[in-house]
Amino acid sequence: MDPYSALAHLECSRCRRKHDAAVPQGLCQDCATPLLARYDLSQVTVSRADVANRPPDLSRYHELLPVSSPEHVVSLGGGMTPVLPLPRLGAELGLSRLLVKDEGLLPTGSFKARGAAVGVSRARELGQTALAMPTNGNAGAAWSAYAARAGLRMVVAMPVDAPAVTRAEIVATGAELRLVDGRISDAGRLVTRLVAEDPSLADVATLKEPYRIEGKKTIGFELSEQLGWRMPDVIIYPTGGGVGLIGIHKALTELIELGWVTGPLPRFVCVQSTGCAPIVRAFEAGHPESEPWIDARTVAYGITVPKALGDFLVLDALRETGGTAIAVDDADLIADLLLAGGLEGLFFCPEGAATITAARILRASGWLGADEETLLLNTGAGLIYPDLVEISPRAENLPH
Ligand SMILES: *Cc1c(COP(=O)(O)O)cnc(C)c1O
Ligand SMILES: [Zn+2]
Repeated sequence: MDPYSALAHLECSRCRRKHDAAVPQGLCQDCATPLLARYDLSQVTVSRADVANRPPDLSRYHELLPVSSPEHVVSLGGGMTPVLPLPRLGAELGLSRLLVKDEGLLPTGSFKARGAAVGVSRARELGQTALAMPTNGNAGAAWSAYAARAGLRMVVAMPVDAPAVTRAEIVATGAELRLVDGRISDAGRLVTRLVAEDPSLADVATLKEPYRIEGKKTIGFELSEQLGWRMPDVIIYPTGGGVGLIGIHKALTELIELGWVTGPLPRFVCVQSTGCAPIVRAFEAGHPESEPWIDARTVAYGITVPKALGDFLVLDALRETGGTAIAVDDADLIADLLLAGGLEGLFFCPEGAATITAARILRASGWLGADEETLLLNTGAGLIYPDLVEISPRAENLPH
């Protein structure tokens, strides 16, 4: 019988050194670079039809996920978010096959739930009892919820001006919240200090542990399955730390290796805000890595990451697939958020709305063909950004 997980070992994404996956690991012990989970795919004999009969949550792909036995799976019921056609928005942009995967329906309101579900499950399985992370809001909310569900202690450090709703989510799900008068990098330094002072705390910042990306990978499995085990031509992704993009790329590569889908890979598009676009700048300059972005700011809070640890992996994925990187203005993404809401009834988060603006620009430039199947990632619910849309009620019409 197949093992529940085909996880074999962890591999450094730069120097390729192997690390033992049976004990908690952080960055590569030689070069302090993120580790990636590697699977023995020859052990995976389950078929696509078997998978189709499983419950619609993340663990339907358990052979390709790191948790080694079902009793360690921590779940709040997330997974199989809809892939929806966007015919009216597509007509407006000149794209006949425009799709969105709507991650706003996941527990805690963003796709950070995927990384948290798998990251927390695996942490508990490996015996970790307390976790700490810096966040711009959504990751903290998700990890706080899943840590509570797992019975683990959670410490979250976040900028004082991060969205208030996520602050409420973190408090409501019982994590210890530390507010920082600064940006996510300042919150990261606080976490580094807390972890150094308290050896029971594990630093689970973006890509500092290897399993969050495995959770994000399920987006790639799901979208292929939902398209009938096919891949779209283009995937447009709002990029902060880049975990989702690296994860989807990793998932599709694993599916090709398994023979469940056939290539070529989609072209990946990394979207950032003109207020924080380190990866776009590096892509345009042909650099293998990004430089820290000074004075980062955008309404798309989830993609305000001045320097991502995994930037080189994002840039590799863009170049390998013939993709591109593009920065969009806040005013344009808000206009497109309202346009999509009115045309399709979907309330995009600002990060998700940035992918609409990117599609518009790339179609206008001819980079995107009119009939190419183009998948947008709406990474969260517009509902968790209550101050984004200006409302001017006609007070004189209200009943007394
Ligand atoms: C975190 C986040 C992103 C960016 O995700 P990365 O994996 O860090 O690139 C995009 N959108 C939302 C809503 C987020 O919370
Ligand atoms: Zn290394």
